Amino acid sequence: STVFDVQRIRADFPLLTRSVHGKPLVYFDNANTSQKPASVIEAMDAHYRRHNANVARAVHQLGEESTAAYEGARDKLARFINAPSRDELILTSGTTQSINLVAYSHALPRLKAGDAILTTVMEHHANIVPWQLVAARSGATVKAAPINERGELDLEQYIAMLTPEVKLACVAHVSNVLGTVNPVREIAKECRKRGIPLLVDGSQAVPHRPVDVQALGCDFYAVTGHKMLGPTGTGALWAKREHLEAMPPFFGGGDMIREVRFSGTTFADVPHKFEAGTPNIAGFVGLSAAIDYYDSLGFDAIHAWEQQLLAYATERLREVPGVRIFGEAREKEPVISFLLEGAQASDLATLLDLQGVAVRSGHHCAHPLMQFFGVPATLRASLAFYNTREEVDAFVAALLKVRKLLM
Ligand code: PMP
Repeated sequence: STVFDVQRIRADFPLLTRSVHGKPLVYFDNANTSQKPASVIEAMDAHYRRHNANVARAVHQLGEESTAAYEGARDKLARFINAPSRDELILTSGTTQSINLVAYSHALPRLKAGDAILTTVMEHHANIVPWQLVAARSGATVKAAPINERGELDLEQYIAMLTPEVKLACVAHVSNVLGTVNPVREIAKECRKRGIPLLVDGSQAVPHRPVDVQALGCDFYAVTGHKMLGPTGTGALWAKREHLEAMPPFFGGGDMIREVRFSGTTFADVPHKFEAGTPNIAGFVGLSAAIDYYDSLGFDAIHAWEQQLLAYATERLREVPGVRIFGEAREKEPVISFLLEGAQASDLATLLDLQGVAVRSGHHCAHPLMQFFGVPATLRASLAFYNTREEVDAFVAALLKVRKLLM
């Protein structure tokens, strides 16, 4: 097998060379947002220097170049998640917008009093709160499937909760707090049997594993660009064409219409019906370059390296006295939530930062999950393929040092 040349890869990420508080940076907050390769930064720079114009409006050369670049991002994203058609990809500002689009345009018009939406205890607030908002407007309720102590979804319970009142089922592909990989295929199969559409929050899956929405068999798949090497303010919603055709537009404005009359406006075909106004064109140029970067490495190599790092980091972390790790699912992406006995998560994160180590502390936008574990917050070390074993060592050394300061 070929060696994963992580040092060569790191050279592609300008930010990784910097220091923080006089220490070499150890960036372990990748689940929050990833760093960007130079190719992404340069693609956006080149767009503004050479090609910038608005999309879908001008017949001049720059307008055509910008439109081709923006629509090219749609093609790349469609291929990246194996969507059956590029027209089924709505470009959004991120997962939050993607899920809200489904909430207001798909769910709300269908929901009535007594209906339910099924989600899980381990979701990010972006896969809970939009459902609560539309449930409140329609008299529906939001139900949450339980998890076990290992941080795995209770699949039997999830399936048992797919009762006739459930009009939409939701689940994260990968948990942002625990790294747990959920059995989306099995869930989708059960949903199909009952005619319940399934929405999958893919935010934390796409940076780590190849995603095939057709093989998964779900109805909606939401992703965010900034966690997968792309710029902030980019993302997408994939949905089956039958759903998109039936959904009324959520945002109205320019570029989403066929004909505007005060007697009645007709809308553009999907996907443009859902893309009112000027989009984040340069952002999608950057996201295209991010997908090219993933393609150049390949997920086989990425996955193998990340799983090695995860195993090593977990093993090293267990050596630290008083460590409690949250989430020990059989199948995980490289995310480790933990606490040190007798120390506050925020104090630890602050002291780790002084050692150059960037981890996140807090509830990670997952209050119900924190409640399940009975803690207000955790520390989260989330790794990417450009991280190294030496960084894991530096992280553990910093943690041992910080522990001495606090104990
Ligand atoms: N879902 C999950 C699982 C996430 O990790 C995040 C980002 N932390 C989101 C949704 C929201 O993504 P964004 O803020 O980019 O819209």
